[in-house]
Amino acid sequence: MIVAIDGPAGAGKSTVAQRLAERLGFRYLDTGAMYRALTWLAMQRAVPLAEGERLAELAAENPVVFDERGRVFIADTDVTASIRESRIDRLVPVVARHQPVRKVMRVRQRELGEAGDAVIEGRDIGTVVLPNADVKIYLVADTSTRARRRMAERPGIGADALATDLRLRDESDAAQMRSAPDAETIDTTDLEVEDVVGRIEELVRTHQPA
Ligand code: C5P
Repeated sequence: MIVAIDGPAGAGKSTVAQRLAERLGFRYLDTGAMYRALTWLAMQRAVPLAEGERLAELAAENPVVFDERGRVFIADTDVTASIRESRIDRLVPVVARHQPVRKVMRVRQRELGEAGDAVIEGRDIGTVVLPNADVKIYLVADTSTRARRRMAERPGIGADALATDLRLRDESDAAQMRSAPDAETIDTTDLEVEDVVGRIEELVRTHQPA
């Protein structure tokens, strides 16, 4: 069983997807971390972020690996903390918009995703990566709530700068950020994490054979 959770930054995807995976005993796959890790490596190796083909080669040669505790590795380096820096937040859409990069990432995401029950979060999971996912969720939240949530995760960055970053990221991600026609949209603005997880869990149960 595959549960796809898509939506913009700050809508609650990671928190909800991780909690849901724990509750269901499913694996959790964070596809955003894969684009983040590639961005980190490209910067490290001074590969120009405008060069899609070179970035795709870099991705193919350096598959992202997750360990059982959810740590993220690329090129034998633990990048779990570095990929959450705001410089990566700002540059990852530049890398992610190249079609050759997306092609390499999708192959890897399908490989990782199809190895059994999984909750997979991203932008294009229900639409492009795994359109046959059993349950598709599209999470949204209003802009100020998303900026507030991000502030808790990025101490030291002002509210205005964060709101601007989110807006720019939405604009850059717009091409791949769509809700699948058969996705259930959940607005998390006024909901607790447990309510969102509970709602998705119900959908999963109705999809599972009794
Ligand atoms: O989900 P997260 O904010 O970590 O994603 C980081 C970035 O990776 C997004 O802003 C987007 O540019 C890219 N991304 C993507 N497709 C995905 C997941 C993430 O393009 N499936």
